[in-house]
Amino acid sequence: MHNCEIICVGTELLLGDILNTNVRFLSKELAAMGIAVLHQSVIGDNSERLANEVRTALSRSDIVITSGGLGPTPDDLTKEICCEVMGFELTVDKKVLNNIESYFRSKGISMAASNKKQAYIPAGGTVFRNDNGTAPGAAMEKDGKCLILLPGPPRELEPMFIEQAKPFLKKYSSGSIISHTVRTMGIGESALAEMVGDLLGNKNPTVAPYAKDGEVLLRITAAAVDEKSAHELCKPMIEQIRARLSSYVYGIDTDSIEQRVVELLSEKGKKIALAESCTGGYIAKRITDIPGSSSVFDCGIVSYANQTKVDILGVSPDTLEISGAVSKQTAAEMAQGARRAGNADIGIGVTGIAGPGNDSSNKPAGLIYIALADKDKTFVDKLITGRSFDREYNRYVASSYALNMARLYLEGFLGG
Ligand code: AMP
Ligand code: MG
Repeated sequence: MHNCEIICVGTELLLGDILNTNVRFLSKELAAMGIAVLHQSVIGDNSERLANEVRTALSRSDIVITSGGLGPTPDDLTKEICCEVMGFELTVDKKVLNNIESYFRSKGISMAASNKKQAYIPAGGTVFRNDNGTAPGAAMEKDGKCLILLPGPPRELEPMFIEQAKPFLKKYSSGSIISHTVRTMGIGESALAEMVGDLLGNKNPTVAPYAKDGEVLLRITAAAVDEKSAHELCKPMIEQIRARLSSYVYGIDTDSIEQRVVELLSEKGKKIALAESCTGGYIAKRITDIPGSSSVFDCGIVSYANQTKVDILGVSPDTLEISGAVSKQTAAEMAQGARRAGNADIGIGVTGIAGPGNDSSNKPAGLIYIALADKDKTFVDKLITGRSFDREYNRYVASSYALNMARLYLEGFLGG
């Protein structure tokens, strides 16, 4: 297997001004091609440090990929430094110069003299044309080493990699590494690990759990001669896990629980309405983040004040008086009220204490009641997040919990 490393160039990365999405994109793509990425580094726009980094990288890796520093300004040095280190001359390429000129013509702007710098390419190297900008990429091969230069902007780097660098690297690729993610909710990491304990030691595919924002993910990774065979190896493992974890699994490689809920509502032709107290509209936000949610989302009412719970949702003053705003009964009446107000199939009601600090009735922060009502029944769950001090976490986890309740209902798991 060939090994590879990635060097991202740009002082803005070191300063934390932008997120290094290129390294994530390239690492994923390379792993899927069966090229092992063993080092990743970030270096500022400084010629000496960059030259040293490239030399070190070439001494230990077969393939070195750089991103950034191909622009027209004097701080963009990657091409000049890499050619020097690899021993390649830079020459003007008429075709590339033409491309840059026509790029500017098509945009109706005149080309700055400094852009001519971008028409210089390593003589004897391979040029990757840039369909989304002016800086071409390049590949240089010498003494069994391969150095690839890609532009910094992701909208230029990503298509250039997929369409040109990836086919170029095919000869170095030995098989594929593929990962799938089984996403679960409603079960803790250790309980889940126990249910699949015997699978966690598996060699190929490997199975690894990790917790994230109130949910637990299982990552299944397989290595094989090609992408298709790697997928084939994952498939029976995913099926086995899905069968064991049953209703805890809300999706395989799904983006989010809200994505799943919107899918299910669309499939079943149902509409949802919300009454949110402590989540302050978080559930509505997450549902409406999903394109196409307008056909399944009716309304979200953020009812903080008791009077609003009464006036708009029809919660009974007696309920508020006897059980309190944060109670099973209030959540249930909020869900029913939302359903009525929106003339929807399903209503969700959430009331709780986001924290930090307990409420006046001395109920603990992190205590949240979540209800779901349809035309016949109302289901209520109590959630205790255990993080009284963390308002953001409590609100997020409560919104996830409510979305998962909707998912369970739509999949037929609620109320058996
Ligand atoms: P450059 O090729 O150095 O001129 O890069 C130009 C722009 O690309 C920068 O201003 C960033 O917005 C973006 N960029 C550079 N490197 C990265 C990276 N590693 N990840 C994401 N964006 C990047
Ligand atoms: Mg730069």
